[in-house]
Amino acid sequence: MTPVRENSDSMKIYINGKLYSKGDAKISVFDHGVLYGDGVFEGIRVYNGRVFKLAEHMDRLYESAKTIMLDIPLPKKNLTKDVIEIVRLNGLKNAYVRLIVTRGAGSLGLNPFTCKNPQVIIIVDKIILYPPKFYKEGLTVITVGTQRNIAEAVSPRVKSLNYLNNILAKIEALNSGVPEAIMLNSFGFVSECTGDNIFTVKKGSIFTPSIYMGVLEGITRACVIDISRAAGIPVKPIVMTRHDIYNSDECFLTGTAAEIVPVVRADGRNIGAGKPGQVTRFLMKEFRRLARREGVPAF
Ligand code: PMP
Repeated sequence: MTPVRENSDSMKIYINGKLYSKGDAKISVFDHGVLYGDGVFEGIRVYNGRVFKLAEHMDRLYESAKTIMLDIPLPKKNLTKDVIEIVRLNGLKNAYVRLIVTRGAGSLGLNPFTCKNPQVIIIVDKIILYPPKFYKEGLTVITVGTQRNIAEAVSPRVKSLNYLNNILAKIEALNSGVPEAIMLNSFGFVSECTGDNIFTVKKGSIFTPSIYMGVLEGITRACVIDISRAAGIPVKPIVMTRHDIYNSDECFLTGTAAEIVPVVRADGRNIGAGKPGQVTRFLMKEFRRLARREGVPAF
């Protein structure tokens, strides 16, 4: 029998192989995930009962963990199975999965090697990031003063529990009355937004900052690149400036939670006609089609 979750009270949260209700799912206040944001995570979508791009998310999780020398206490194959099982147990056929590995409880000092038991957590819930209006009419964004972390300090390729860099940029955008921020890298080139990668479209080609501009290697980004190339639209990872954004025909953001969201205004300039463009709308449609068709079945 497939269990169906009636409400969030019947949510089952996984911590290290055991299941807990929402109220009982707890970790130590000495966990370095809490004390220092020391850990890694993934956000994964379930569409139509299938876990989308699961292998890609698992690969990125284990790569992020390797870079920060965090040993995930179970093999990738087993954790992948557990994710599928927890999705099934929670009974949500369209869901957002938050998979977290914290460093575990240790002393109050920084030393991560005092933490012997990393905590592996899986939460299955719903997510609504932006209202439907933004998908129909497009977003207004601004460039903010908070620069993206330099790769030599904390690599943006590590999806770590420490999101303060992005949160500070998000605060700047929200304080200015817009929902999202463009973050530049330390050279002044465009990197990404606070939780999404950025793309432009000009004269039939698609452009996005190269990962070496200091961005998270987004799984939706890769998916959009694949869809575009399969449709014969050239995609070029580039060194992107704000000038490129202002003078593009179209602009959009990509992320697991946001999917593909059009951007129609940046720093007071209309992008193209100031409306979601044709290529963006095509990609939104294709992405949704793919998301509903592909993925690892959980039910
Ligand atoms: N950049 C940042 C900073 C992110 O946090 C995310 C994930 N929300 C993305 C880009 C998009 O990555 P993905 O498509 O893998 O969700």
